[in-house]
Formats: sequence, C-alpha cells, structure tokens
Amino acid sequence: MERLVQRVRDAFRSGRSRPLRFRLQQLEALRRMVQERERDILAAIASDLSKSELNAYSQEVITILGEVDLVLEQLPEWITATPAKKNLLTMMDEAYIQPEPLGVVLIIGAWNYPFVLTMQPLIGAIAAGNAVIIKPSELSENTAKLLAKLLPQYLDKDLYVVVNGGVDETTELLKQRFDHILYTGNTAVGKIVMAAAAKHLTPVTLELGGKSPCYIDRDCDLDVACSLGEVHELRPNLHCSRLHSLEPSLQSQIVQKIKETVKEFYGENIKESPDYERIVNLRHFKRLLSLLEGQKIAFGGETDEATCYIAPTVLTDVDPETKVMQEEIFGPILPIVPVKNADEAITFINEREKPLALYVFSHNNKLVRRMIDCTSSGGVTANDVIMHFTLSSLPFGGVGSSGMGAYHGKHSFDTFSHQRPCLLKSLKRESANKLRYPPNSQSKVDW
Ligand code: NAD
Repeated sequence: MERLVQRVRDAFRSGRSRPLRFRLQQLEALRRMVQERERDILAAIASDLSKSELNAYSQEVITILGEVDLVLEQLPEWITATPAKKNLLTMMDEAYIQPEPLGVVLIIGAWNYPFVLTMQPLIGAIAAGNAVIIKPSELSENTAKLLAKLLPQYLDKDLYVVVNGGVDETTELLKQRFDHILYTGNTAVGKIVMAAAAKHLTPVTLELGGKSPCYIDRDCDLDVACSLGEVHELRPNLHCSRLHSLEPSLQSQIVQKIKETVKEFYGENIKESPDYERIVNLRHFKRLLSLLEGQKIAFGGETDEATCYIAPTVLTDVDPETKVMQEEIFGPILPIVPVKNADEAITFINEREKPLALYVFSHNNKLVRRMIDCTSSGGVTANDVIMHFTLSSLPFGGVGSSGMGAYHGKHSFDTFSHQRPCLLKSLKRESANKLRYPPNSQSKVDW
C-alpha cells in the first residue's frame, strides 16, 4: 500500500492533474467509459444487488452522467480565482482566492449504490485537480472488480487507481498519508476512518447513516405519502431506514394504503417482480430478521433465506426502546411510531442522534418550516423522500452522527479543493512598509 500511494503521489507531484484541459479531458473519458460500458456496469450492479437494469440505470448511471455534464460545463468558472476585497494598506495590490487541489484523495465506498458512491466523489476530486485512490466496497464485488478493470482503460493509470479488498486491505490503506478522505458507510467504521486520518491530520468527509425520521401530518396527501414516500422506499438495501411518526388515527389508513400500493407496484407475487431486489447478503438478511423479533407486523413479514428475500414489511405501534428503533435498519422494514402531534415528533427527533435526512409530508407549509426550524438533520425533503440527493446544487451530507462535510456538484469541487488566499504585493511601494520596520515600529503604527 505504501508503494502504491507513493506512486499515486509521484503522479500528483508531476503536476499533470492540474491544468484545466487535462481535468476536462479525464472527465470526458469518464463519461465515455460510462456510455460505452453501460451494459457491463448495469450487469455488475444487477449481480451485486439484484437491482433491475432500469433501477440501476435511473439510480446510478443517470446521476453520474448528469454530474459529469454539469462539471464539464461549469469547471472553467469554478477554477477561476475570485477577487477578494482589499483594505487601505493593500489597495494597490492584488488579492484573490485561488482554489488549489489538495493532493492525493482516498474515496471509500459502500455497497448499496456501488457505482454512484465511488464515481460521484471521483468526479469532484478529478475536477479539483487531485490524484485519487478508490476503495469500493467488497460487498458489491462485481462492481468493485469492474471499476478496477475499466478505470485504467479510460483514465490516467497512475493518477486514478482502484484498490480492492476488505477490512484488512482498508486498514492497511488507512495507515498511509492522504490529503483528504471521503468515506461512505456506517457510523462505527466512520470513527475508525477518522481516527486513522487524525494520525496524519488528514481532513475527512464522512457520509454516514442513521435513522431518518419521516413525519406524516394529518393534513397531507396520503396517497402521495404512501406511494412516493413509503412504498417506493420500502425496498431492500435502501439508502436509509427510518422511523415514522404520525398521529395514531392515521396509522391504520397508512397501513392500508401501503398494502394497496405494494400490490400495485409489485403485483400479487412480490417475489416474482423484477423490480424488487434482494438483501445484499446472508449477514444482512439475518440482521434484519432479528429486528422483527417481538414486533407487531401489520403487513408483510414473509422471508426466504435461500434467496435473501424479505417482503416489504410494516410494523405498527413500535416501542421506541426496541432494537428496530435503536439500530439503523437498511432494509424493507418500516416501523411506525404513533405520535400525538408535530410537537411530540419534534421532541422525539431531538432526543435522538441527528439523522441524515428529515422527511415531512404535509400540505401545511408553516408546519413543514416549523419541523425544519426546530430539528436538525443532514438534509430535508418535504412531500417526497431522498430527492434532495439528486439536486447537485444542494450540498449532500450528514451532521452529527450522520456525518460531516458534504459533496455533489460544486460542493464536491469545494470539498476537494483548498481555498488558497493570495495577496500579491508590489515591490514598488516599499516606502509604505517602512512604517512597520524598527526602530520604534510599534509606535509608528500605534497612532
Ligand atoms: P460497507 O460494509 O460496504 O462498508 C463501507 C466501506 O468501509 C467498505 O469499503 C469497507 O471495506 C470499509 N470497511 C468496513 N469495515 C472497515 C473497518 N473495520 N476498517 C476500515 N474500513 C472498513 O458498507 P456499510 O457500512 O454496511 O454501509 C451501509 C452504511 O452506509 C449505512 O449506515 C448507510 O446509512 C450508510 N450510507 C450512507 C450514505 C450517505 O451518503 N450518507 C450512502 C450510503 C450508505
């Protein structure tokens, strides 16, 4: 690992990752890679997560193509220095802020969006002029292997390198010195990454998880909330699990609507639906089963160990002290916790760790804003879920135990850049400097 990181650092020191033309050319090559090898990419994701090609395309490929296009268009503007305000002493000088690359960036990805979670940060890191080492998740091994094969065919082999492996390899990699680490994964490993980074004073962006609450107000479109918000998200290997708060009288209506929508989406036999994925592996399957113990299953609950299948499952009247409410779910299980009103939901949210996202369904704009003002979360989507992730003008990231730092679009460029303040003085105005020189320098400026 030491030799490998050194090789990448040498490539960075050669300076070739810095010119705008080079960055654009690498990003164009990355776009070509995605376009030309789309079938291979979709097949790898499908075999890792049994995602349908349509889902893989819409969730992973489109996002990356959109991100590359945005960066190709905007990068010339982003890399331009911004003039800074000057004061009396520097009026005749030049002052500006120049973004500069940080150096060698390490990107560690998670398995649930194996392509997006490595390629989207890579785009930002290339745009900012860095060299990059990518460590995809070993759990999505087909995508990991494909990335290791494809990247050297399209990008500079020494500047952008894929390293594959599990905990041992990642531990070894983390002993090396990097200039920034972006990690996506669970909070416990996030702490390991940050501790390793601290040894070298390496800054980190941690994209972590947690339990993202969704509040459903009495005054909302339940059909939308249940189909868009609930059933659409009630899938295996989902980005974030969540608790769910609503007024007690709504609970049975919600369960009924979810039931109808699941049938509409996946048919009578969910197992046969090409749109319904499987849990990523047996370990996660068993972990999810253990969360169901002792719960009131209002809907779903069918499982099949041989194929790691868990049906969309809704739990009602869930006790906040039980395991399913304490641990991140990351699967097709939706616990419903009834609350009396928005105030109780706000207290509930604030008594727990800060989540990655907050979701609110309501027609009442004032209530939505009050929920936002009175709580904290990485991001917010109202009357939908996850969609703030797709808007690259919004920084995506967590807060508190759901992470630190953010990326996407220009925010990725900023994450992987140092904003370097530059003051260029003229040597012609030396007379003004005399004020600062001894003898009696202090008295000259203490007027
Ligand atoms: P994972 O098992 O794929 O692990 C993530 C990465 O960490 C892998 O590359 C793995 O090799 C490495 N790793 C694992 N254990 C390690 C250790 N002991 N030391 C060093 N490296 C180690 O993924 P996961 O953690 O199961 O991912 C799911 C989690 O990720 C959930 O908590 C989810 O909420 C979170 N997540 C967050 C986002 C986000 O954008 N914030 C996106 C997706 C997933």
